[in-house]
Amino acid sequence: MSDAPGQPKLTTVEGIRIEAAAYHMLSRAIGVSKTEGIEYGGVIYRNETTKQIHATGPIKGEPVTVDVGQHKINLGLGDNLKPLAWYHTHPLYELENIQFNNEPAKLEWDKFIGGDKEISDYRQIMGYVATRDGRFWRYDPPPEVQDSNYGPGSWGVVNFPRMRTGAKEVMPPSQTAW
Ligand SMILES: [Zn+2]
Repeated sequence: MSDAPGQPKLTTVEGIRIEAAAYHMLSRAIGVSKTEGIEYGGVIYRNETTKQIHATGPIKGEPVTVDVGQHKINLGLGDNLKPLAWYHTHPLYELENIQFNNEPAKLEWDKFIGGDKEISDYRQIMGYVATRDGRFWRYDPPPEVQDSNYGPGSWGVVNFPRMRTGAKEVMPPSQTAW
């Protein structure tokens, strides 16, 4: 298990809403993600007109990746929508003998590294993860990103109730705005 230190819950008005959205979306997806061994994810964003918080997904991905729009301008969102965070599941324990992009994939299920870190650092958005044990994690990117010289950022478990992981199908979000 990880020895990562805990992450404090966000305490600003908007931070609380963002964190609630991420927890809600991940709690709807982690069960089926674990059952299938497939990552699910999405983006948390603010509508700049209404100031409401919304989420995309849960989008179904692959065993060790999910496309939440990371290759698109503004994460594939409309002009008036500002990405604030992204979320995804880590359904698998460590795997060392699988291939990803024709390279050996060394998955570290309780870390936020590699491509995960690049998305948050490059986009300057928080990254939320639900691990297969039902824990809820947050990564905060370093405040200043200098090309390939990313700082370590901050990563750890947020003290929310463990998510139930028994669901066999994705539960649609029970709300659409926070
Ligand atoms: Zn990941």
